[in-house]
Amino acid sequence: MTDHIEDSPIKKKNRGSRPPNSIWKDINKGEAVGSGKFAASCKYCKNTWSRGEVSKLEEHLSNYCPDAPAAVVRKYMTKVMERQDKSKSSKKRKYSEGQKLNVGYNTPTREVLVNQLLERELAQVNFKVNSELEKETNLTLVFDGWTSGTHRSIWNFIVMTPSHKEYLYQLSDLSENSHTAEYLVTDLQ
Ligand SMILES: [Zn+2]
Repeated sequence: MTDHIEDSPIKKKNRGSRPPNSIWKDINKGEAVGSGKFAASCKYCKNTWSRGEVSKLEEHLSNYCPDAPAAVVRKYMTKVMERQDKSKSSKKRKYSEGQKLNVGYNTPTREVLVNQLLERELAQVNFKVNSELEKETNLTLVFDGWTSGTHRSIWNFIVMTPSHKEYLYQLSDLSENSHTAEYLVTDLQ
């Protein structure tokens, strides 16, 4: 018996390094205008494109959109960085210029600016840490807990590499949970 679904062209298209496109959750898709380009409009800032390319739209959300929520910014930052990491081309420079330009381009509110900048920084740090950790084969997880001045129970989880680099994996406030070994085991998973 042959599995015809496995061989369908749609499934093949999504195979390989790139995950299926989810850009259309954040961008309104208009008419197709040939070779992977679409009329499009941003769901957050009402920016429009007559011939939008997916990669350009992703860049808009990661770097240029003044109104995108923090989680959206981080999602597309990660995407754009992964792509740049693969191609390792002059795109990298283009991106940092774009980021600088963006700061003066619109006049976002202080709150949006702080949120978005933090998300961008966080996405970059996460990406670096993940690529460092992917290279390592023998990681140690160390954790420690203490009670803060406000009686919160704070725990930190640190990943150690064989070359003694330490990465803070997570800082958790576990006040609502009892300090049982059982709980820690669940949290670590
Ligand atoms: Zn936008």
